Amino acid sequence: MNPLYESMATSVFERMSLAAAARGAINLGQGFPDFGWEPAMLAEAARALTGGSNQYAPSRGLPVLREAVAAHYGRHFGQTLTADQLCVTSGATEAIAAALLATVSPGDEVIVMTPAYDAYAPLVRRAGGAVREVTLRPPGWRIDRDALQAAVTPRTRAIILNNPHNPTGRLFDRDELAAVAAVAVAHDLIVIADEVWEHVLHDGQRFTPIATLPGMAARTIKCGSAGKIFSLTGWKIGWLVAAPELAALAARAHQFLTFASAPNLQAAVAYGLNEGDGWLDPMRVRFARARNRLAAGLTETGYAVLPSASTYFLCVDLAASGIVLDDEAFAALALDQAGVAVIPLSPFAEVAPPRHLIRLCFAKQDATIDAGVAALRRARELAA
Ligand SMILES: *Cc1c(COP(=O)(O)O)cnc(C)c1O
Repeated sequence: MNPLYESMATSVFERMSLAAAARGAINLGQGFPDFGWEPAMLAEAARALTGGSNQYAPSRGLPVLREAVAAHYGRHFGQTLTADQLCVTSGATEAIAAALLATVSPGDEVIVMTPAYDAYAPLVRRAGGAVREVTLRPPGWRIDRDALQAAVTPRTRAIILNNPHNPTGRLFDRDELAAVAAVAVAHDLIVIADEVWEHVLHDGQRFTPIATLPGMAARTIKCGSAGKIFSLTGWKIGWLVAAPELAALAARAHQFLTFASAPNLQAAVAYGLNEGDGWLDPMRVRFARARNRLAAGLTETGYAVLPSASTYFLCVDLAASGIVLDDEAFAALALDQAGVAVIPLSPFAEVAPPRHLIRLCFAKQDATIDAGVAALRRARELAA
């Protein structure tokens, strides 16, 4: 078999979602919301589709969207960004790919903190780089400066920082961001900041972009996603933000990945960013309510639920719930015998993968959450 096939395995999200659809199972696996998007944005997209352009957009993105993104980050985080620091991409996934292609040369090493979003390692390798894992450990999942420092070698080129963090739901604190910045500055590293969850925060927390820390603006490539901000994951509109020269380099990589993204959806996202700050708080309230409902239902059923401060995911500790099956075996049982898809955490790491944790998505309507809890109750009984 072609070894490339092995190095780019089917994503665990695709694997679980396809299996869930084939069996008609409840899908608490893949992270897409089934409630709460803005009808005004859909109307704007429809208007742009029928009345606007349906031809190639400029490769760097519609000026109106680049300006809207810059203004958005100015309002929310006090950043002063110009349009030449931005490139619109087909989702944050493409922004991450472009950032890696722009920075990693064959033989370079990239530090990835695991458990990590499953796209990073295959993309680093296809850019010719090698992955150096730094293991975060439950239940705290803290970034340890010494561990990060110890992973740096003369070949290290970049650190991928995902904050807020998927799959753990952690929002890293000031000290942890300062540790990443200190290591990056000391060794002249690029930080690829996957900050797609920047607005999906619970319990009144505040997010700090790592680019705003001293010394970081010049060395950060930030990846953002309208899919996550507006619960419109299927649109795949994202962007990268960096210092002008670095942004130009990543934009060149983007030219040969997708070249440009759907202009009508870009126009609707620009509308959403310019009109939509008032939508963020109600979204957070809905997500926090859904998180509390799922966590309460699971706790009542005897599951040990880990805290989730951000994203629309929470993790369950199977071992602490009295379940001896590992994560993959439990996920298979839950799907086959109880009719509910969950995500095992072990595919999110290669060195020391956690095998006793699963991730659940709570961005679902009450009825879906309740049906999911009932199915997980059955799975627990079957696993006992
Ligand atoms: C969802 C997600 C992405 C991908 O974002 P898209 O805009 O859908 O491409 C990237 N990173 C993390 C951590 C995510 O959760």
